[in-house]
Amino acid sequence: MYPAPFRYHRAATVEEAIARLVEIGEGARALAGGQTLLVWLKMRFDEPTDLVDIGRLPGLRDIEQEAGRVRIGALATHARIARAPLARQIPIVGDCASGIADNQVRSRGTIGGSLAAGDPSCDWPVLLTTLDAEVHCRGPSGTRTLPADGFVQDLYATRLEHGELVTGVSFALPGKGSAGAYVGFKRCAPAFPTSSVGVQLTLNGDDCTEARIALGSAGLTTIRAKAAEAELRGRTLGAGVIAKAAAAAAAAAEPVADQRGSPAFKRSLIDALVKRGVEVARRRARGETVEVSHEYY
Ligand SMILES: Cc1cc2nc3c(=O)[nH]c(=O)nc-3n(C[C@H](O)[C@H](O)[C@H](O)COP(=O)(O)OP(=O)(O)OC[C@H]3O[C@@H](n4cnc5c(N)ncnc54)[C@H](O)[C@@H]3O)c2cc1C
Repeated sequence: MYPAPFRYHRAATVEEAIARLVEIGEGARALAGGQTLLVWLKMRFDEPTDLVDIGRLPGLRDIEQEAGRVRIGALATHARIARAPLARQIPIVGDCASGIADNQVRSRGTIGGSLAAGDPSCDWPVLLTTLDAEVHCRGPSGTRTLPADGFVQDLYATRLEHGELVTGVSFALPGKGSAGAYVGFKRCAPAFPTSSVGVQLTLNGDDCTEARIALGSAGLTTIRAKAAEAELRGRTLGAGVIAKAAAAAAAAAEPVADQRGSPAFKRSLIDALVKRGVEVARRRARGETVEVSHEYY
């Protein structure tokens, strides 16, 4: 299907983009990589009057580290992040970036668009919740910083206000003994995950001192599996403890039935993915190099 007619504007600066979005009002949408928005337009899920192209705004695609924090600009594409040294330095970031869709989508889609789309199947909101990241925003009322956890409030709804842009994300570099894994299960590369899980652990020997677990495609928003985290925190990581955490994560999920499977199937996937994620994070925290990404079926 063709999209409904719309006017196209290209902004040269963040200020101009915000001003245009505010001036045009409710009918305006920001256009970044277009890998979600253009699909919505072609399916007539959305019929904006105007698109404000933010894809070439300067200074929003950098990946930097300063004072123990990583900052990624909103326009950094999935492919750019997957190729960056950061993806090897913090392997959970590489797991996520390289597992998204196929080369075409990865080379156009952006981390900011992935957050702003509010899609529960997108991978970045799950990864950024796992890493306790912050989302940096700029709008008509100025700048603000929001936690990634809870940034997506409902299906396709975020905490962004009209005219407000995501300008970047930031998170602390994992400390000594801390490592994570991002694992997903999908039908093929250009499909969204049927289920995905982010796990970040801090270990002292085999004892888990800190744990964060987030679930993707597991409900209407990213789900933080706090009961599962509590099963790991303060415990020695044995098979029984990990199995209890996996069961708690599956119980926290609220998956919907769709073409990718039934809720029961998705819960059993989450159980298996949490076990895998914890195992990989544990090996990485001990200094092992372990390659993982999404699995296909
Ligand atoms: C075939 C296919 C498979 C895919 N598979 C996956 C997958 O496995 N995992 C996954 O995570 N994603 C997947 N995606 C989605 C892809 O990652 C998108 O690129 C991403 O979700 C949106 O980023 P974008 O830059 O393309 O945003 P756009 O499509 O340009 O915009 C999406 C929405 O966000 C808004 N927006 C964009 N940028 C900003 C900003 N900086 N500030 C405020 N609002 C903004 C737009 O107005 C729009 O509402 C897939 C897409 C396709 C087409």
